Amino acid sequence: MRIPLIAGNWKMYKTVAEAVKYVKELRGLVKDVDGVEVVVAPPFTAVHAAAEAARNSNVGIAAQDLYWEREGAFTGEVSGVMVRDAGAEYVIIGHSERRTLFGETDASVNRRMAAAFAAGLCPIACIGETLDQRERQETFDVLDRQIKLGLDGLGSDQIAQLVVAYEPVWAIGTGRNATPAQAAEAHGYIRKRLRQWFGAEAAELCHVIYGGSVKPDNIADLMSQPDVDGALVGGASLDVRSFLDIVTRGRDAARRRQGGAAGTV
Ligand code: PEP
Repeated sequence: MRIPLIAGNWKMYKTVAEAVKYVKELRGLVKDVDGVEVVVAPPFTAVHAAAEAARNSNVGIAAQDLYWEREGAFTGEVSGVMVRDAGAEYVIIGHSERRTLFGETDASVNRRMAAAFAAGLCPIACIGETLDQRERQETFDVLDRQIKLGLDGLGSDQIAQLVVAYEPVWAIGTGRNATPAQAAEAHGYIRKRLRQWFGAEAAELCHVIYGGSVKPDNIADLMSQPDVDGALVGGASLDVRSFLDIVTRGRDAARRRQGGAAGTV
């Protein structure tokens, strides 16, 4: 059974002081919130301070990217070993902003995935189609390619630990979320492919979370869908109270779906 996971992607927002203030407030707010994993992803500069502020709490810390080499002459890059050392336990990989603005490809995503596991990080691997691709009815082909190439060479034990974030590009930062039915269809498809390519057990344990204009008022509908195991939240995670609402409403929707079973999806 999968415990729902709600992760906040802060993108290029928040100074060290702002990150620490947020995490201190969040840890207090979620200290008695069970049945859900809560993660925030500060920019690299604030990962260590945020991890210190989150120590011994229910809040996990993610980096927003990594470079696949362990160390070397790679000016401007940060390795998996480095973000793990700074206190991150998770890392977002292949976010659509990395793909469209910074030239990330399925092949480079794949190298980062292997590096994340090697560094002891749990990857949050982002996949999803553009609006053009959806309109041309290529969504499933795009997901196939991103899963096949991005996860190539990973073992079933790694897939079991992985978080896949289905993030339709047309829904990110646009205020236009996928409908619950669209999310359910894509998540079901991703799970089916994971089952075919990595085995039933790994597919059952892998989290498939949704991202794209998640807000406090749409999270319950999204998380009431089968195979939606949580959310990757951008803009609405920047305010701690809004993020808390998403965490609790998402967790409650998952519970209702399970007929009241304690916090598993
Ligand atoms: C994201 O950054 O992954 C994201 C989904 O952003 P937003 O929630 O703002 O659409």
